[in-house]
Amino acid sequence: MPELPEVETIARDLRPRLVGAVIVGARCTWARTLRTHEPNAFAEAVAGRTVESVGRRAKQLVIALSGGAALTVHLKMTGQLFVVPSAAPEDPYIRLVLELADGRELRFRDIRKFGRVGLYGRDPVTGELVAEVGGAAVFAAIGPEPLADEFTVREFRRLVRRRKGRLKPLLLDQSFLAGVGNIYADESLWRARLHPLRTAATLRPPDERHLFEAIRAVLTEAVERRGSSIDDYTAPDGDGSMQERLDVYQRTGRPCRRCGRAIKRLVVGARSTHLCSWCQRLSPAERKSGAAILRTMTGGAGQAPASMSRAERTKRAAATRRATARAAGNLGSRAAG
Ligand SMILES: [Zn+2]
Repeated sequence: MPELPEVETIARDLRPRLVGAVIVGARCTWARTLRTHEPNAFAEAVAGRTVESVGRRAKQLVIALSGGAALTVHLKMTGQLFVVPSAAPEDPYIRLVLELADGRELRFRDIRKFGRVGLYGRDPVTGELVAEVGGAAVFAAIGPEPLADEFTVREFRRLVRRRKGRLKPLLLDQSFLAGVGNIYADESLWRARLHPLRTAATLRPPDERHLFEAIRAVLTEAVERRGSSIDDYTAPDGDGSMQERLDVYQRTGRPCRRCGRAIKRLVVGARSTHLCSWCQRLSPAERKSGAAILRTMTGGAGQAPASMSRAERTKRAAATRRATARAAGNLGSRAAG
């Protein structure tokens, strides 16, 4: 699932294409894609509005529209966005189309149909997105943005000291920190040399600072590299390259880039978790309390070849799907001349 760097990249690619564009209509072929409206009501509600900005909050795109409205797009597993001329061929995975006055379309393509688009109002005073009925703020339960200037190590310490749980699930908790998912949680913990099963309560002040710095560094680098094109993630201007720079994620059985020992895989809260058990140590007490999870560990020398070939097959299949998606987008661009 796209995390902060991938969604940020999509927002940046879409911005020059969409800001100033006027929406004249919408077509929806899978009603559940729309989180807040029925297809006809949605088409009526967006028609005539101009795109004012394209941004991101947590793992969602936020497209602000004139008249105090905004669209949110949660890509989930396989969502992709392309801006193409309306004459571009449509494939069967297009779930929602916004028709633009200049003859182009914003198409939401989503093979597995988990992606969701919402239409909300913007509070005129705070600018916060609010549901049209009930008035609850859409992002009220979401934690701070880790790359925001005002997010400091002091603030990170304050938040971490209120928590007691293990670090891996904590980093995935969007109410703790916005935008971090499985890839960048594993990468941040490896960089900070902290075991995913460490608990927040055991962190010393230097550990807190290392983790804060690792999260910011890995996310910053990933944004610069346009995200990690693993699975179906691709952006309007093409794939990212961060997948080539990942140190632990999906590198089970391969040598740690710091110590040379094999990267291991654990299952923590049903999520696969990658680590170097040499660089990321646990105290004997934590090893004892995490014994059940530690028994799920794989990645010893003998297990590497099978898991690597499975990972390779998955990667090749995803690359093929991305190429297909890009071909649809590029075909559209060429048709535009
Ligand atoms: Zn290591």
